[in-house]
Amino acid sequence: MSAFVPLSRVLAGGSDEGLFFECPGCDMPHRIQHGAGDGPRWVWNGNAEKPTFTPSILVRYPWGPEQAEQVCHSFVTDGRIQFLSDCTHALAGQTVELPDWDSV
Ligand SMILES: [Zn+2]
Repeated sequence: MSAFVPLSRVLAGGSDEGLFFECPGCDMPHRIQHGAGDGPRWVWNGNAEKPTFTPSILVRYPWGPEQAEQVCHSFVTDGRIQFLSDCTHALAGQTVELPDWDSV
């Protein structure tokens, strides 16, 4: 586990260009990468308090005893997270404020 460096109420940085936010749908941090480099990259508006990331963030992971695939698909805009309807969690289709990072 890399060390998290809090950047604001809602955002933390990692050891590289990674940014982490707490996803209230999955109840876990999600990571995006910005800037130059390998792998998928997002554009960050540079605002740590009210971040905007583009394009959308799609996370898939197995979960539970059956290792069923979970899907979390969201847009983070101005510090709010809009979950698209293809999310498998309870916040699908809803838009909520990003939770406090220290609530992780
Ligand atoms: Zn999520």
